[in-house]
Amino acid sequence: MSSQRIDLLEMPALRWLRGRWGRLPLQTLFLLAALAMLWDGFTGPPEASRNLATVGAWVHYRGLIVVALLLVGNVFCMGCPFTLPRTLAKRLSWRGRRFPAFLRGKWLAMAGLLVLFWLYEALDMWASPALTAWVIVFYFMAAFALEAFFTESAFCKYVCPLGTFNFVYSTLAPTQIGVKDPAVCAACTGKECVNGAYAPQVSIHLDEIPVRAANSNAATRAVQVTHSPQGTLGCGTLLYAPQMTSNLDCTLCLDCVRACPHANASLFTRPLGTELRVGAWAKRWDVALMVIGLTWLGLLNAFGMIPPVYALQADFAAATGIAAEWVFLLLLFGVGGVLLPLGATLAAAWLARKLTRARASLREVTAVFAPAFAPMGFGIWWAHYTFHWLIAPLSFVPILQEFLGGRADWATWNSAPSLEAIALLQGAGLVAGFVGALWVAQRNAAQAFGQRSFAAWAIWAAYLLALMLLAFFIFTQPMEMRGSEWFIG
Ligand code: SF4
Ligand code: SF4
Repeated sequence: MSSQRIDLLEMPALRWLRGRWGRLPLQTLFLLAALAMLWDGFTGPPEASRNLATVGAWVHYRGLIVVALLLVGNVFCMGCPFTLPRTLAKRLSWRGRRFPAFLRGKWLAMAGLLVLFWLYEALDMWASPALTAWVIVFYFMAAFALEAFFTESAFCKYVCPLGTFNFVYSTLAPTQIGVKDPAVCAACTGKECVNGAYAPQVSIHLDEIPVRAANSNAATRAVQVTHSPQGTLGCGTLLYAPQMTSNLDCTLCLDCVRACPHANASLFTRPLGTELRVGAWAKRWDVALMVIGLTWLGLLNAFGMIPPVYALQADFAAATGIAAEWVFLLLLFGVGGVLLPLGATLAAAWLARKLTRARASLREVTAVFAPAFAPMGFGIWWAHYTFHWLIAPLSFVPILQEFLGGRADWATWNSAPSLEAIALLQGAGLVAGFVGALWVAQRNAAQAFGQRSFAAWAIWAAYLLALMLLAFFIFTQPMEMRGSEWFIG
């Protein structure tokens, strides 16, 4: 990371986050929000636009999350209420073995995302408070069960669709976990940031830490480190702070910061696009396809809300005689969420390799360009989520008033930006994402292919341009006003 970085946890306003209960205020807030959504989902008004569950989950959460990811980082995972049952499971000491090796990767999380978005459309989840509440219940149960039976925060790392979305787009965030002095890590024997500081009985060891004062190059100082049963957890997703090059898999829990006995791990600022370089991510198919696939899923999710999809569905029903919507959606998600992304990506990688006469495998070529899809995909989700959110950004106030037994004052809280202003914001997000993607692709192509980089870049730039044109087509269509009919009607 850059030497210009700022240690955010040294700032007086944020120092408390280092404390043992640093996450608790945010977790408590999110837990209360989740409980309120559960209660209203099961017992509140059946209209989606007046219920905390639907408006909270599908409108406000999604709008806020894209803003938070871009400006701060993975704050949802930091305050995630679903980790509370996980912690309970840990305390009950049910933790067992590691997650099965064949499931350790992003395939399960990607499948979860596809299924969630398919169910979202097929069951009209956005219109059903009760179904939304069931999704929240399912989340709590899945987090508890997986944490109870497996180590390594299996739910967060391998399964959680929300976490997967957050991991991918926190790669754009201006913050990242790192260490102040790598020499201290080299001398640290316990590596508590990843191992934790727990021991069944009190145990003590000494670390010989290099002294950096002038004229004392060879000097060290011994630091006593004590572990006890009241110690601190290490990184749940097994990230090792001194070697972190990415926010992927980082839930921003800050356990590493708390566990480090040398106050060496912290949260730092970083320049834009820092980790979207070749080599910052593992060169794996699942990692690359997760980022690329999420871009396609963003298009698909928005496509499901515009008139052409209904025309397509009618044509499908007329041609096949199959009127069931879920079948049509299954086909749509299979083609648009799996076959097209896979086909287009393999074709782009093959063409780039052929034109550059590179010896790299298709996987390695794809890994070079996958980071460009982070800004591209983010622009698409931004355009979608900010639209629904900004149509009625204060609608949670009257809904909350009604939830608390008062009279909902809709008239006072129905102000919103004009549709033109929202369209401008959507367009700005799409263009910024596309320009960022071209820049990342160009930089990575130059790094990987040297003088032959232009041909490879041109192929992937054409791929990105096609996605951009598709995005503009989709976002210039009238979109269903899900979750905010009250304000529009
Ligand atoms: S971050 Fe702290 S605990 Fe981790 S290796 Fe460095 S000094 Fe040790
Ligand atoms: S403990 Fe791991 S997941 Fe938590 S903030 Fe540190 S690196 Fe990220």
